[in-house]
Amino acid sequence: MFKALVLEQQEKKTLSSIKQLDVSDLPDGDVLVDVDYSSLNFKDGLAITGKGKIIRNFPMVPGIDFAGTVAHCETDTFKAGDKVILTGWGVGENHWGGMAGKARVKASQLVKMPEGLDSQKAMAIGTAGLTAMLCVMALEDAGVKPEDGEILVTGASGGVGSVAVNLLAKLDYKVVAVSGREQNTPLLESLGASRVLPRSQFTEKGRPLDKQFWAGAVDTVGSQLLANVLSQVNYGGTVAACGLAGGFDLPTTVMPFILRGVNLQGVDSVMCPLERRTAAWNRLVELVPASYYEQATRVVSLEEVAEQAEAITNGQVTGRVLVKIIGT
Ligand code: NDP
Repeated sequence: MFKALVLEQQEKKTLSSIKQLDVSDLPDGDVLVDVDYSSLNFKDGLAITGKGKIIRNFPMVPGIDFAGTVAHCETDTFKAGDKVILTGWGVGENHWGGMAGKARVKASQLVKMPEGLDSQKAMAIGTAGLTAMLCVMALEDAGVKPEDGEILVTGASGGVGSVAVNLLAKLDYKVVAVSGREQNTPLLESLGASRVLPRSQFTEKGRPLDKQFWAGAVDTVGSQLLANVLSQVNYGGTVAACGLAGGFDLPTTVMPFILRGVNLQGVDSVMCPLERRTAAWNRLVELVPASYYEQATRVVSLEEVAEQAEAITNGQVTGRVLVKIIGT
């Protein structure tokens, strides 16, 4: 038997509780993993609180990512004892996820733990950190270089934003953070932001084309904020858009695209091919400094997840929240 956070639905409300499950309760898959850590991402928050239509089939074990140890593998991809990471693929959305002592998934969905990482560090990075890396890679692929100018990161205090600030600074980009929480300015500066701008500067409807300020941007917020960022990107610059913390609409015009050749590059970590996600993990090992794990991560228990889920959907979580499963 093992402990799991289980989501059920009653009268269209999502209810979460901790239950004891048996291995035979787990869904199909060819690898059984003993979960060490999961983490709390914005999507987990939407799923657990029921504020977003993330889960369609109940009961569901949430947790869109986890790191742990292979207990048994039916293919020759992994052997018992191998350390592995899972992010995305709909796990924690339409297949039971990482907020449980054990998970059964497909071997093809797992990334072998890179040298230099352990389960705790891997989940300190988690889906959010992987997405931040994929955003940085999208800027690099578009040819945005440190000497081109400043890079804006929105939703900077969050999981994706805080890792993006850190990675870009490590790669010698000059990073400007956008945050709605002034109290996080010291943290964002210590992660590598050269300055922090208030979110309020970007929330009112702006002009279709504004002054050109940014060589590129990583946007985790969407909506009006992304529209305003697009109107301020330099000629030929690129915005890597991965999130909707402020809304999923995009009230923009074609002007930045047709008059300034601005690129809007969508970034998805969920179905990202294994080769690219492995490359991203290897770069994360190289780039995330030891200080990140101390400055911007926090460990909670399974019992604390429901409260933290409410907080993340209200924009009140700073950095990354890890969920400790091992030993519970
Ligand atoms: P977090 O909640 O940790 O971070 C989001 C940040 O956005 C907050 O910390 C806050 O930063 C800011 N924010 C919150 N609410 C609002 C609002 N109403 N308007 C403007 N800004 C707001 O979430 P994550 O970092 O885990 O995820 C960020 C976004 O990226 C989410 O929308 C998530 O769904 C998406 N995502 C997408 C992935 C993909 O594969 N495409 C993968 C992972 C995440 P501050 O206080 O500093 O302004």
